[in-house]
This record gives sequence, structure tokens and C-alpha cells, in this order.
Amino acid sequence: MLEVESYRQLVDRLVGLRVVKVDARDSHILKAGLTPSALATALGGLEVTRTRRIGKLMLVDTDGGPTVGMHFGMTGIVRLSGPTGVAYSDIDQLLYAPKRHDPLWDRLTVTFGDSSVLVLCDPRRLARITLDPDESALGPDAGTVKRAQLAAILAVGATPLKARLLDQSRLAGIGNLLADEMLFRSSLSPVRMTDTLDQTDVSRLHRHLLATLRILGKRGGSHTGDLMPERRPGGRCPKDGHELVRDAVGGRTSWWCPHHQR
Ligand SMILES: [Zn+2]
Repeated sequence: MLEVESYRQLVDRLVGLRVVKVDARDSHILKAGLTPSALATALGGLEVTRTRRIGKLMLVDTDGGPTVGMHFGMTGIVRLSGPTGVAYSDIDQLLYAPKRHDPLWDRLTVTFGDSSVLVLCDPRRLARITLDPDESALGPDAGTVKRAQLAAILAVGATPLKARLLDQSRLAGIGNLLADEMLFRSSLSPVRMTDTLDQTDVSRLHRHLLATLRILGKRGGSHTGDLMPERRPGGRCPKDGHELVRDAVGGRTSWWCPHHQR
């Protein structure tokens, strides 16, 4: 979600501009029955009025038309150039941004009234675009979740803690790397069952969850965590030097310290 927030801030430059051309040359990323021509028809002539984000979902509102929902998958990025063709983004520095640019990866190009051009580039085609996405399918955004909300999210049933943190329908925005980093900082194991957490654990997790998002956001993305360089065989805990363990939790490769994360 940190990357998505940086895209949202970029796309926010388009507020007040009108769509003049939509070229969705790869219908694979269009979901819920959307076709390239339907997307072009739906958006043509509309003004961008607002950008929003819930977790990893970016939302672009238009004046009287549909809201465009954009999911970036693993490798999707936004490129934006202004009226003079100058590129606005420094997103190339993000870890998962492709190191080279192949025009075949440009799945969607939208041109605006002042000649600004937005391109959704995605090597692996895991990005998803929908109109008027169901926002109620997502939990509250992790970046603004209140302690009481987090406690309620953790109180439902018994499941490994990390699996619950990754469940976008309950809490939106936490991906694999962020989950491992905030659990590392909270001294909680990803396999700890949610029904064994006490009030102190919840408070500590809440504090570190928000701090992790804030700190890694400032550093430049979810790949900038203290644990990141140690996510490898033989990697050691940055706090106490114990060898990290790796296992699949919630279907995702997880690294944690068996010594201080309990
Ligand atoms: Zn440790």
C-alpha cells in the first residue's frame, strides 16, 4: 500500500483535467466484464475530481461518471508525464519497478486535455481495473486503523496472526513484506494464533503497525524494512542475531525470529 499511495499522489496531479483518449490495449487487466471500448466510452470527456486509496486499491473519482478502481498486482506501476512530456515520477527507484521499460508492458494509456499522459505499465499483467469497485469488500485502511478496530479484527475466530493481517476484507493494505516487518517490530510471531493475544499484545501490535507504515513510507516503500536484508537463508535477526526461520504462513513466504517473536 505504500507504493500505491505514492501512485495516488502522482495521479492526484490529474485532478481537474479531462480525459480525451483511453487506450486499453490489453483487455486482460480489465475485470468484471469491462472491455476496452466500454472503458473508453465510460471515461471519455470526464473530469478527474478526486483520488482516494483504500489499502492497495487506488480509486479515481470523476464528475458524474464512474469511479475507476486500480489494483497494481505485484508489478504494476504508474507512469505519468505532464503537458510538455516531462516525466513526473521517480517510481523507477521502487524495488518492484521493472529495471527496463518495454512498451509491450504498457497495458493502459490515458491522455488528458492538457496532454498529460498516464500509463499503467505491468510486466506480469496482474494489475486489475474495474469501474465502481465494491469498496465495502475491503476492511478499514491499515494506515488509519484505530486500536479498537484492530482489536475487533483480531477477536474474530482463531487464525495465525499474519494470515489475519493479510486478509484484505478485514484490514486493507498490508502486504507480505509489511506484515513480516511489523510483526518483527512487535515481537509477535506470524504463527501466533489470534485468540491467544491479550490486550497488551494488541496495543503493541497497533503501535508498531502504524509506526512501520509511517517509517517505511518515509524510507520509500515496503521493501525498506529492517528485516528485508535478512530475508534469505542464513539471515539473522537485526535485534538479537538469532537465525531467522522461514515458513509459509497465510500462503506467503514468511521470515521471523524464533527468539524474540512469540
Ligand atoms: Zn530476534
